[in-house]
Amino acid sequence: MAILTIRTLGDPILRSKATPVTAFDDDLAQLALDMHETMHDVGVGLAATQVGRLLRLFVYDSGDEGERGTLVNPQIVWASEETEEAEEGCLSLPGTYYPVTRATAVKVRAQDLAGAPIEKEAEGFLARIFQHEIDHLDGILFIDRLAPELRKEAMKALRDQDFGMSPPPRTNASKRL
Ligand code: ZN
Repeated sequence: MAILTIRTLGDPILRSKATPVTAFDDDLAQLALDMHETMHDVGVGLAATQVGRLLRLFVYDSGDEGERGTLVNPQIVWASEETEEAEEGCLSLPGTYYPVTRATAVKVRAQDLAGAPIEKEAEGFLARIFQHEIDHLDGILFIDRLAPELRKEAMKALRDQDFGMSPPPRTNASKRL
């Protein structure tokens, strides 16, 4: 296993659309393992685009009471009309946390690492993780979902940040997706 480099804002790959996975082979399984190891202890979700691979998959681990897994070629096939707002962060936007409105519940159709179809229903925090990670696969970052004023503020804060010199982001692993 290996810890992969997490790409941060400014890296064009974060704005690229990932392509569907067609080879369910050892390389894919290894990538998923490495992504799980990279995410461990620092976040609760990680999309392949965040580690520089334009493939449609993400890993998640919503904590002790939660669930962990890998979803390949995920698609939201249903989302609740009901929404809720909660603070989100992102491993690719260190130190940045803002409230984001998301559907309270979603149903996701995907494949596992062997290519078998799976369907998952999620609500609350897990539903939030799924929506955040699927956005990554389409080149969308959570700051894009903020109200215009807040987005402006977030962009300014990110611009002012010097990623190389700033102190490590405050520990808030449970909110980084
Ligand atoms: Zn993220």
